[in-house]
Amino acid sequence: HYEERLHALATTDVLTGVANRRFLLNRADEEFSRVQCERQGMVQPESAGCILVDLDHFKSINDTYGHQAGDEVLREVAERFKHCVRRYDTVGRYGGEEFLIVTPDSSFDDVREIAERVWNTVRSRPFEVDGTRLNITVSVGFACIEDSDVSISDVIKRADDSLYRAKTSGRDKIIWLPAGEMA
Ligand code: GH3
Ligand code: MG
Ligand code: MG
Repeated sequence: HYEERLHALATTDVLTGVANRRFLLNRADEEFSRVQCERQGMVQPESAGCILVDLDHFKSINDTYGHQAGDEVLREVAERFKHCVRRYDTVGRYGGEEFLIVTPDSSFDDVREIAERVWNTVRSRPFEVDGTRLNITVSVGFACIEDSDVSISDVIKRADDSLYRAKTSGRDKIIWLPAGEMA
């Protein structure tokens, strides 16, 4: 149907078929509101997480094998990520070679487990590019919604700062930093 196609166009990343940035940010914001709202009540809810993933040295894949090959890797990465998450998680493309995964209703350990699967699914099996087997790794930063967060931007910022630390401390690793421990 026309309206369904319009919705898909507005919410999907054309290259990879996963959620686009706008849809991701809306999903994350909805989860933030839900957790904030439920925290007013009697029963303490689970938190929710944001996992940011950036391909390591991706530019060199483009430079060596061409932009098309790079695109192929991005599609395969998105495909693998879909198999690492639960039904109600959202995998999306946040920017060029950066993915964001929004994990509703999850404890810190839940989020860490998904982050580990995501990290592992890339490094554990080589990618076939132009008949060549490429070993690729990702750096991961994640964060959960905490009481001190004022908006979802605070959570994404913490995930991003963690990702930055993963990059500057050698790549191919997962980093998380509780709100109180940010620089
Ligand atoms: P780092 O480990 O620090 O992340 O290194 P990097 O090379 O992955 O990071 P950098 O930011 O230097 O380069 C990102 C590259 O991703 C450059 C850009 O051309 C490429 N890129 C971004 N979007 C796309 C895309 O849609 N397709 C392809 N093939 N490449 C893309
Ligand atoms: Mg990169
Ligand atoms: Mg990047």
